[in-house]
Amino acid sequence: MSYIEPKNGSTIEIGGLTKYMRLINSPLLQAEAPLLVQAADLVGQCRPAIAARLGGNIANASPAGDILPPLLALNASVTLVSTTGERTLPLPDLLQGPGKTALAPHEVIHHISLIACRPTPNPYSQIGQSPRHGHRRGERGGVIAA
Ligand SMILES: Cc1cc2nc3c(=O)[nH]c(=O)nc-3n(C[C@H](O)[C@H](O)[C@H](O)COP(=O)(O)OP(=O)(O)OC[C@H]3O[C@@H](n4cnc5c(N)ncnc54)[C@H](O)[C@@H]3O)c2cc1C
Repeated sequence: MSYIEPKNGSTIEIGGLTKYMRLINSPLLQAEAPLLVQAADLVGQCRPAIAARLGGNIANASPAGDILPPLLALNASVTLVSTTGERTLPLPDLLQGPGKTALAPHEVIHHISLIACRPTPNPYSQIGQSPRHGHRRGERGGVIAA
């Protein structure tokens, strides 16, 4: 469950246990989903990216989760597995509110699928501000999440 793979040309699949460091260093994501790399880098600045995983960030469903806005922008869907099978939900359907998800107790996030997107230029530069608000870098909250 730790992998980043292209699927069907325009889709990228990321395993639920993929660590942020791997997202940050992925040439595929750097080229096709740089927004996700930027968000992963923000998480890595606050907590060692060596430990944090994509599935854990999604399952937390934190309003301040840095990885959620870019995943939503990239039309991400989440595939859940359990002993009884699997199902795939659009990310907006998985996220039920702050700290709440549609995950059943016996389900885990197996992988995330997103649409490859090579934005030009950086969308944050178009609105002329940093993707985070705050006086100090380490205390800033995500603009979209806030
Ligand atoms: C000091 C500190 C700073 C942080 N700063 C940020 C930040 O700036 N931005 C940000 O977005 N987050 C931040 N976080 C939150 C956290 O680092 C991330 O949410 C991280 O991605 C969680 O991943 P994890 O692998 O550590 O998950 P865990 O902490 O191990 O798990 C989190 C929850 O998700 C569940 N879970 C984990 N993996 C799965 C899975 N595959 N399927 C189903 N459920 C699963 C666990 O059971 C648990 O309930 C911070 C945390 C700390 C402690």
